[in-house]
Amino acid sequence: MRIVVIGGGVMGSALAYFLVAEPKFAGEVVVLERDPSYRFASSARSASSIRQQFSTSINIAIGRFGAAFLREGRARLAVDGEAPALGFVEGGYLFLATADRLASLEANVRVERSCGADIALLSPAELGRRFPWLSVDGLAGGSLGLSGEGWFDGWALLQGFRRKAIRLGARFVTAEVVEAERRGRRAIAVRTRDGERIAGDLFVNAAGPWAGKVAEMFGVFLPVEARRRCVFVVSCPEPPRPCPLVIDTSGVWFRPEGEGFLCGAAPPPERDRPDLPLDEVDHGLFEDIIWPALAHRVPAFERLRVTGAWAGYYEFNTFDANGLVGPHPDLDNMLCANGFSGHGIQQAPAVGRGLAEWICHGRYLSLDLSPLAPERLRRGERLLERHVIG
Ligand SMILES: Cc1cc2nc3c(=O)[nH]c(=O)nc-3n(C[C@H](O)[C@H](O)[C@H](O)COP(=O)(O)OP(=O)(O)OC[C@H]3O[C@@H](n4cnc5c(N)ncnc54)[C@H](O)[C@@H]3O)c2cc1C
Repeated sequence: MRIVVIGGGVMGSALAYFLVAEPKFAGEVVVLERDPSYRFASSARSASSIRQQFSTSINIAIGRFGAAFLREGRARLAVDGEAPALGFVEGGYLFLATADRLASLEANVRVERSCGADIALLSPAELGRRFPWLSVDGLAGGSLGLSGEGWFDGWALLQGFRRKAIRLGARFVTAEVVEAERRGRRAIAVRTRDGERIAGDLFVNAAGPWAGKVAEMFGVFLPVEARRRCVFVVSCPEPPRPCPLVIDTSGVWFRPEGEGFLCGAAPPPERDRPDLPLDEVDHGLFEDIIWPALAHRVPAFERLRVTGAWAGYYEFNTFDANGLVGPHPDLDNMLCANGFSGHGIQQAPAVGRGLAEWICHGRYLSLDLSPLAPERLRRGERLLERHVIG
């Protein structure tokens, strides 16, 4: 049995690793990646943070496995005694809420705790005591992850999965898929830009922000668009410490990175068009939206300096902003690992493991990922996640 994975970013590489590491798997894994430098891949442009604070229990469970994997994955991904430095810093996420959003935050915390997540609900006074650098102006509360949340080296995770998968027998081929062949409800083969035809028994769409375009080649639809998100690197003479990853009430986020900070926010909807160029950073967004919000929430940020910036694509699921994981409803032998909408890099370990189980055993064994099944597109049932970070 030949599994053809289209896209060798963190999703494609995680799946390849879990497949070839699975003792029951006797097939061949071919990963087609058009650019092994990953210049434009989301996995190389990510803020690489991980959390358990979600409103849906499936995302919480996925986050919990992701954190466990980041703690022990180093050893599992070692090649010739060299283990990738995943750099997991369990600094926590802090979601802040105004009075009108407090009930929703509390409801989320109830769900998170019932799923075993380690989350504290803090009053404005408690927030002020714990984080003296934070202005609690207008705040009614906040939820803080006490363990299993923080940030890590996403590039190292991608390379760790890829290297280990190759060592265990997966074949990574530099090739761009430009066409696909199908017969009825079955995908048969893909054709590369160099004219090569590659047949397969099962195809996996792991093309990140380009997943909608790959689906189109097979003549099926996936509601995934490439939405540009900009990350700004800032330094500050009196850096607030200790500092978790903070999600402000404005939607602006920031977190420590080395001596400085990363920050970002979603652009206003009218500016959030698909396929905007990645070589242009939206500096107006920083001036108009991000900096005022940062300075309001952390007075020390009034004196910050921007030291760098980059742009990458969210693989945005326009249907319900959640992962689309599992068989495509219109193709019997096409699996999707798509549409993670800004929380994909942390979900790669659970999605890779889950799809490998599905392929080898015909069902999920460790964690049932069926709530993320793309079948929900056909039923018109949204799995809405309230905690999507712009
Ligand atoms: C600015 C930013 C911040 C983010 N922050 C976080 C965060 O804090 N936490 C989090 O969990 N997630 C975050 N994400 C999201 C996360 O990075 C992505 O969900 C994840 O990296 C997606 O991985 P992927 O492998 O699906 O896609 P990618 O990494 O984009 O990989 C897809 C690959 O497919 C290849 N490809 C595409 N089409 C073809 C084709 N036709 N033929 C061959 N190859 C093809 C591409 O070259 C690419 O390498 C962030 C994303 C961005 C942009």
